[in-house]
Amino acid sequence: MKGVPDPIPRIIDTGDREWTNKHHTFTTPVQALYDVLNPDLGDQLAEYLETTKALQAVIADAIEDETTVRMLGGGWSFSEVAATAGRMYNTKPLNLYFRMAPERLDPAYDGDAAHLWFVQCGNQIAELSRKLRAEGQSLRTTGASNGQTIIGAASTGTHGSALDVGAIQDYVVGLHLITGPDRHIFLQRQSRPVVVEAFATRLGATLVSDDRLFNAALVSLGGFGIIHGALIETDDLFLLQMFRRRMPFDAALRHAVTTLDFSGLTLPRLERPYHFEVVINPYDLDGGAYVTTMYQDPFHAGYPPPKPKGAMAPGDNALALIGALTDAIPAVIPKLVKALTKSTYALYPKGITGTIGEIFSATTTTGKAAGCAIGLPLEHAAAAVDIALRIIRDQGPFAAIVALRFVKGTDATLGFTRFKPHTCILDLDGALSSRTMQFYSLMWSALVAAGIPFTLHWGKIVGLTPTVVNAFYGAAADEWRQARTDLLDADVRRVFASRFLVTAGLA
Ligand SMILES: Cc1cc2nc3c(=O)[nH]c(=O)nc-3n(C[C@H](O)[C@H](O)[C@H](O)COP(=O)(O)OP(=O)(O)OC[C@H]3O[C@@H](n4cnc5c(N)ncnc54)[C@H](O)[C@@H]3O)c2cc1C
Repeated sequence: MKGVPDPIPRIIDTGDREWTNKHHTFTTPVQALYDVLNPDLGDQLAEYLETTKALQAVIADAIEDETTVRMLGGGWSFSEVAATAGRMYNTKPLNLYFRMAPERLDPAYDGDAAHLWFVQCGNQIAELSRKLRAEGQSLRTTGASNGQTIIGAASTGTHGSALDVGAIQDYVVGLHLITGPDRHIFLQRQSRPVVVEAFATRLGATLVSDDRLFNAALVSLGGFGIIHGALIETDDLFLLQMFRRRMPFDAALRHAVTTLDFSGLTLPRLERPYHFEVVINPYDLDGGAYVTTMYQDPFHAGYPPPKPKGAMAPGDNALALIGALTDAIPAVIPKLVKALTKSTYALYPKGITGTIGEIFSATTTTGKAAGCAIGLPLEHAAAAVDIALRIIRDQGPFAAIVALRFVKGTDATLGFTRFKPHTCILDLDGALSSRTMQFYSLMWSALVAAGIPFTLHWGKIVGLTPTVVNAFYGAAADEWRQARTDLLDADVRRVFASRFLVTAGLA
């Protein structure tokens, strides 16, 4: 009843017996889909602790009923990484967050309590940006849009193009992991401990400081139990000045994308950009690539908040329409992609300014979209673009654009941005159609044929088998499996196995 406090967490059966991900790449039968809600006790820590107990009961019930469990973030993954045939739990209502008390920090920690937030798993990126702004803080980076939950995003290695920051999991410094019906731990690195035992004790958890286990659990693909909360590092609120111009994909730009040495380019500002991104419309090569650069400035009030330019973004109807049309009439692809690219990638020659939450704002892509993101060692970036353009020219057309983003290599064991010092991510976003899927397969085969090492974003379109995963990750795949075995008992591992993990040889 409205207005009456709920003393216990609620786990509500939505009645749904099948689940479709947000962008309609698949529908799968499920035993049940539940919403999980914190209790209302008027004390956030007490509420969090009660929810831990409820989540442990979820695991206990699943063991007893011999079924499987998946926590669901925003449901934004294109792959089946968030799905199970068993019980699914929507975590989005679990959105408490806490500042850190300085006395709970390990004296060896090199950071500052003002930049640490303990956030419950279901906080969405947009929501966190809003909450942190009110505290004068900012997420260090996000993906291009913001409907993911913090744990959903980290669990597949979501990234933007913040060159020297990394992906979302790279600013997670602690994980509150529920590993069984009667065990939960606060996991952090031993080489960079952040909290003392008393912090874990307040959560009722055991403190585990271990680099190998922590790095494996960072990109967990939902397979390491329930991540109830995460400790994240933030920055003082900052502004991004964003420019977008068109430039030829010539020797100077090719050098920049394969080295991140920008000295040969005429960029809007002299310093190294915070963010650098190159988008190529395969059907408008003569017009040049869309080059986006962003520069980080201290926050100050009074800037004009950015207004989206261009009336149309590649939203629901447009993308779904292209998907249907282009399977039937490939000849229309070049014109449609050209129109969509122009409307989506508005030019900002003079720059616009906003916070991270304002620049990377809500997406309008809600329909039948497809995305494939290929992680590459930097030095192969230009060659990979050439391969994509050659496939489109010789075997296309395909309704997709080619984009390059860049991040610092991750320490997460199965982070797909694992190439160091920087990973280039080749994004092939487009309409969901069998032609687009064909394009992705051709691209993967061509990279193998060219001897270019690569990985694939776990949350986007993938074609994984144990052989492929072992080829991508080598010994790291074994380390991840071993860490999972060390953290979860056999019956809990069974609960958090899924078709996705089994197909990839990870469970
Ligand atoms: C429009 C759009 C734009 C995108 N832009 C980008 C981008 O810019 N960069 C990028 O890298 N990716 C991008 N992606 C991909 C997306 O960020 C990832 O797939 C991300 O993982 C989705 O987050 P989510 O919260 O929706 O998680 P979900 O897809 O719901 O889940 C992802 C994984 O997290 C697990 N999980 C969630 N919560 C928990 C929990 N509490 N405990 C344990 N496991 C949990 C799930 O089980 C699953 O394995 C985009 C996707 C779309 C649809």
